[in-house]
Amino acid sequence: MRLEINDTLAELRQQLRGFVTARLHTVAAEIDRTGQVPDAAWDLMRDQGLLGMLMPAQYGGMDADLPTYCIAQEELGRSHRVFTLILDYTSGLCPTGILKLGTEAQRERWLPGLASGRLRASFGLTEPDAGSDAAAMKTRATKAPGGWVLNGRKHWISGANKADVIMLMAVTDPEKRARGGITAFLLEKGTPGFEVTRVDTTIGSEAIELAELTFTDCFLPDDAVLGEVGKGFAAAMGSLTHGRMGVSAACIGAADRLLEMSIEHAKNRTTFGKPLSERQAIQWMLADSAVELNACRAFMYEVLRQHAAGAELGQATAQVKLMCSEMVGRVADRAVQIHGGAGLVRGGLPVERFYRDIRHYRVGEGASEIQRMLIARELLA
Ligand SMILES: Cc1cc2nc3c(=O)[nH]c(=O)nc-3n(C[C@H](O)[C@H](O)[C@H](O)COP(=O)(O)OP(=O)(O)OC[C@H]3O[C@@H](n4cnc5c(N)ncnc54)[C@H](O)[C@@H]3O)c2cc1C
Repeated sequence: MRLEINDTLAELRQQLRGFVTARLHTVAAEIDRTGQVPDAAWDLMRDQGLLGMLMPAQYGGMDADLPTYCIAQEELGRSHRVFTLILDYTSGLCPTGILKLGTEAQRERWLPGLASGRLRASFGLTEPDAGSDAAAMKTRATKAPGGWVLNGRKHWISGANKADVIMLMAVTDPEKRARGGITAFLLEKGTPGFEVTRVDTTIGSEAIELAELTFTDCFLPDDAVLGEVGKGFAAAMGSLTHGRMGVSAACIGAADRLLEMSIEHAKNRTTFGKPLSERQAIQWMLADSAVELNACRAFMYEVLRQHAAGAELGQATAQVKLMCSEMVGRVADRAVQIHGGAGLVRGGLPVERFYRDIRHYRVGEGASEIQRMLIARELLA
C-alpha cells in the first residue's frame, strides 16, 4: 500500500528518490567515514532546489508549502539525518522565525543568504537548567541605551558553532518570563561578548554538532530584536510547532528506509537452510513495522492536508511528532534485530547508524513526555 498526499507530491517523491539514491547516498557514506559534512552535500541540495524551499521566491526560496517540505524531509531522511538538518537550517526554525516575525530589513539581511545556503542559521532556546522547561531559562537581556546587554549560557544548540545568525531567546522581564518576559533576538556571528565555549557530539553522527554559547556583556542593538519585545517565548513555540512536522517526516523517511533494508536482508540472508523472510518471527517484525509506519504516514498526511486547506496546525503536531518519533525507534530496533550482527557493526550497513541517529528524535524539539503533556493539556482544557 502506497500512501501519498496528492499526485503532484507523489511525482516529486519519485524525482527526489532518484536524486537521493543516485547522489546523496554516497555523500552519506562519506559523512559516516569522515564525521564531516562536505560542501558537496550543500551544493547537491542547492542544485536540486532544496535549500530554502519554504522561503518565498523574493528571498531566493521555492515558495514551497509545508506538505512539499515534508515530502522532501521524508526522502532526505531515507539517506542521512544531516541532509534533513541542512533543509532545516535553510527553511526551518530560524529562517521561518525571521520570515514570520522579522522586519523587512531583517528579512532582506538574512533570508537570501540562508535560503541559498551561503549563510547558516541556528535556533538557541535550551540551557543547562532549562531544557523541557524552556521558560526557566536564565540568559538575561537587560535594556541599555540603543540596545540590550546579554549575559548567560545556552547549550546543545545544533550547528551554532558554524552559524552566521542565531535566533536566540532571552529573558527581558524576569517577573513575566513566558508570559511576556522572553524576547527573541537575531544574534550575529562575531558579536563581541559572544563565544562558542564548547562543542558536543551525541551517540548519533559525529557530523552533527551541538554548541555551547556563552554571553558576557554582549551588546545587541535594538534592531536585533526579532518580533516584539516580550513575545519571544510564543515565537519559539510557534517555530517548534511548525518544526515538529519536519522532524516527523524525517522519522517516516528513516523508518521507510529501515524497513526496506530489513526486507532486503530478510530475503537474502539464509539460516538453517532457509531465507529469514520465510520465518514467521521475522515476518511478524516486518509486518509490525509496516503497519506502524503506514499509520504514522496516514496521520501525518491527514494533518498536512487539513493544514493546506487552512486549518491551524495546533497540538496535532505534538501527536504526529510523538507517534512518528516513537515509531521509528521501534522500527530501527526491529531492523537491527533482523540484521543480527550486521546491524550492529560500525562502518558496515547504514542500519547501525540509523539506529543511533534516530534516538534523539524522542528528545530533541520537545521530548515524548512533553508532547504528551501538550496533548493532554488540550484534552483537559
Ligand atoms: C541532537 C540534539 C539537538 C538539539 N538541538 C537543539 C537546538 O538546536 N536548539 C535548542 O534550543 N535545543 C536543542 N536541543 C536541546 C533539546 O531541545 C533538549 O534536549 C530537550 O528539549 C530536552 O531537554 P533536556 O535535555 O534538558 O531534558 P530535561 O528537560 O532535563 O528532561 C529529561 C527527561 O525528563 C522528561 N521530563 C521533563 N519534564 C517532565 C515532566 N514535567 N513530566 C514528565 N517528564 C518530564 C523529559 O521528557 C526527558 O525525558 C537538542 C538536543 C539534542 C539531543
